[in-house]
Amino acid sequence: MKTCSKCILPETYPGISFDDKGVCNYCRDYKPEYKNVNSESLLEVLQSVDNPSPYDCVVPLSGGKDSSFILLYIVKELGLNPLVVSYNSGFQHPIAEENVRSACEILGVDLEEIKSPGKIQKGILKASYILSQKMRIAWGCANCPAILRIVPINAARKHKIPFIIWGSSTLETIEGNDYSKDFKALLKMSLKDPRFGFNGFKYIFLRIVQRFLLGFPLRYAFRPFSIPPFSNENPKFIHFYDHVKWDSMRNTQLLGSEIGWKHPVGKESRFDCRLHSIGNVRYLRDYGITMDGLNFSNFVREGKMNRDDALKSEQDIAKKAQDEYDAFLKNIM
Ligand SMILES: [Zn+2]
Repeated sequence: MKTCSKCILPETYPGISFDDKGVCNYCRDYKPEYKNVNSESLLEVLQSVDNPSPYDCVVPLSGGKDSSFILLYIVKELGLNPLVVSYNSGFQHPIAEENVRSACEILGVDLEEIKSPGKIQKGILKASYILSQKMRIAWGCANCPAILRIVPINAARKHKIPFIIWGSSTLETIEGNDYSKDFKALLKMSLKDPRFGFNGFKYIFLRIVQRFLLGFPLRYAFRPFSIPPFSNENPKFIHFYDHVKWDSMRNTQLLGSEIGWKHPVGKESRFDCRLHSIGNVRYLRDYGITMDGLNFSNFVREGKMNRDDALKSEQDIAKKAQDEYDAFLKNIM
């Protein structure tokens, strides 16, 4: 398969085209926006408003590498007092769960844990698995991108905290699909095939119920495919990695020694959610590259990763993704 000579996007990626040198249009159109600001300016931003709350900011924590480093940095480097929020869909990796609690204990910060109510997430996964055999709409991660935004927004509003520290830089956030189109396709398909229709109904219904029970504002609860935007005030999302550079080696060691951070053997990143392989398999099937690989392409373009490393990591992940996915489904069906 042909891949871009600069990043690692394959020829099967939507909307891609190559020039004579084999460089893709995403690389050609790329404009560096990386704001290499130092820690002082992040501190300045965080102290720029009158803050009525005892907390300086909300830090969403998954127990993975990126968010754990943010928490460590906010507390140790900047000397701030964050409120930590952690969402558990029921499929958080046990090591990640342990990381969340031990980090908060060692750093002496408050933690609010929010769990997906009942067995809803499992129901969504089952329904989505059946739907996924006919269309690419219903991936099991479903509500998670929206939930991961709403949970810290709700915590910030409750405690009147002005800022949420977000874990990915603006650039590596994937805002991929046009969900309204997917929704129409789902309705059309449901009318043709009753079993499909039943699961389609169940899938949408459970997505709405899950949103409702997790305290989504009604305008997002009743639009089950919507993702709330990053708000700019009350609370304002701060993209941490737009301010602070990520240094993988140094940070991983630091996390281990400072807050007892652990990872599963042979898996240092993206282990925090056990549903992660679902996204990778879907992307691989639909676009010819995993979700992680898409992020690697962004890193290469931004100069944070070299192309050979990106290609090698992508091949490893692609090779394992299907096995992980199958093992996972066997477990829940
Ligand atoms: Zn490219």
